[in-house]
Amino acid sequence: MTVTQYIAAIDQGTTSSRCMIFDHDGRVVGVAQKEHEQIFPEPGWVEHDPEEIWSNTREMVGSVLAKTDLTAKDIVAVGITNQRETAVVWDRGTGKPVYNAIVWQDTRTDSLCDELAGDEGRGRFRETTGLPLSTYFSGPKVRWILDNVDGARERAEAGELAFGTIDSWIIWNLTGGLHVTDVTNASRTLLMDLETLDWDHDICEAMGIPVSMLPEIRSSSEVYGDLALPGISAGIPIAGILGDQQAATFGQACLSEGEAKNTYGTGNFLLLNTGTEKVHSEHGLLTTVCYKLGDKPAVYALEGSVAVTGSLVQWLRDNLGIIQSAKDIEPLAQSVDDNGGAYFVPAFSGLFAPRWRPDARGVIAGLTRYVNKGHLARAALEATAYQTREVIEAMRADSGVELTTLKVDGGMVVNETLMQFQSDILGVPVTRPVVNETTALGAAYAAGLAVGFWESEDDVRNNWAADKTWEPQMDEAERDRLYAGWNKAVERTYGWTD
Ligand code: ADP
Repeated sequence: MTVTQYIAAIDQGTTSSRCMIFDHDGRVVGVAQKEHEQIFPEPGWVEHDPEEIWSNTREMVGSVLAKTDLTAKDIVAVGITNQRETAVVWDRGTGKPVYNAIVWQDTRTDSLCDELAGDEGRGRFRETTGLPLSTYFSGPKVRWILDNVDGARERAEAGELAFGTIDSWIIWNLTGGLHVTDVTNASRTLLMDLETLDWDHDICEAMGIPVSMLPEIRSSSEVYGDLALPGISAGIPIAGILGDQQAATFGQACLSEGEAKNTYGTGNFLLLNTGTEKVHSEHGLLTTVCYKLGDKPAVYALEGSVAVTGSLVQWLRDNLGIIQSAKDIEPLAQSVDDNGGAYFVPAFSGLFAPRWRPDARGVIAGLTRYVNKGHLARAALEATAYQTREVIEAMRADSGVELTTLKVDGGMVVNETLMQFQSDILGVPVTRPVVNETTALGAAYAAGLAVGFWESEDDVRNNWAADKTWEPQMDEAERDRLYAGWNKAVERTYGWTD
């Protein structure tokens, strides 16, 4: 190649929207990022303004091109990755949302989920969708909008409204009206059949959602349409879509059966590639689509989703004010030698995997006069590591896969105190890759593979390189003592919503 070319990735996350540019070696060439408002109208409710998300995303595309001195002709394709499950409903005619985006962490649909579960219980759609009925997934959120926004149901039934996860919302806006999603995002709605990779009409009916609202489900790697952004570009193909956790799995090159990664962002998400076979979980994990490259068969994953990890750090910053910024938690935690007996269980959205307890709410347990804010900071970091251990134990029980090392990424893995503790509490090494922006990278790979910028998955494997590995240093008795303390604290979180 004489002219250097690049792939752009839009990463629309829970906290912020990013646009990143990658070269052929999978290295970051440029990044632009902007946070958006977290809207909490009532306890347990979490919303985003879809128009703010779109305008930030658009601004970041322009901004990264300006920063890197690149123009649209230097970019061969764009990949999209996104916070999953978050639901937007908009008017097909005006393109205006009828309500804020209801975010994946939002628990307002809890009683609706009980109602939908009926006598069959929350596992009612599990065989077909791989998911339990939970406030986490998009379907109940859409149903809530149709039930609660004036005139929404009538308009939806008349074909006037569209539903999409954030990927669909962004692509609709980027292209001027293309209504698509990919199999990974669709697999998080509670409306898609994991086998046929199509909407399940019976479930849509049971959920009260007209099929006409739903986007077309496509693979994760193909040309969907071209970017049509006045002032920025026309004609760059959008060629990859992956939900953020599946994108990180791809970016971490977990492309063979038995390979897993754990992402530490707003929440934590551990995905294990199970190949072209779906593994149904007996231990509270989700079965989900990992990726589907063009016409090739879909690859599946087992997933352990933890709702609150990095967002607990945000909570210490925003709600308690004991730190000024997220990075301050590390020196504060290091101001003490241990957790001082305190355990912090951040069950703000109930507990997700592997316990699935919607009735749980957060607790800080083990307090004495001795405990200070340093201990609380440490307990908050430790909570992330304990929750990860629970998920890994469930994964081992479901799959028989014994992890020999854990590949990690996401906003929290800059925190070395946390990474050392994670390795200690698991008793296995933890490895961070050189390119920690695996989510955006995974979306870039999906797009680049579709247009032949990269030839095969081997290019992805060859580009992956380790940056740092933490080895376990804690003795087993201490590990067991701490984990037993955590388990005791978790039990105190149950039954708060009865
Ligand atoms: P997302 O993609 O979910 O928006 P990111 O991967 O960008 O999230 O990670 C952001 C999260 O990481 C925030 O919740 C923030 O509190 C947390 N975080 C950022 N820096 C640190 C740090 N140094 N130590 C601990 N947590 C951190």
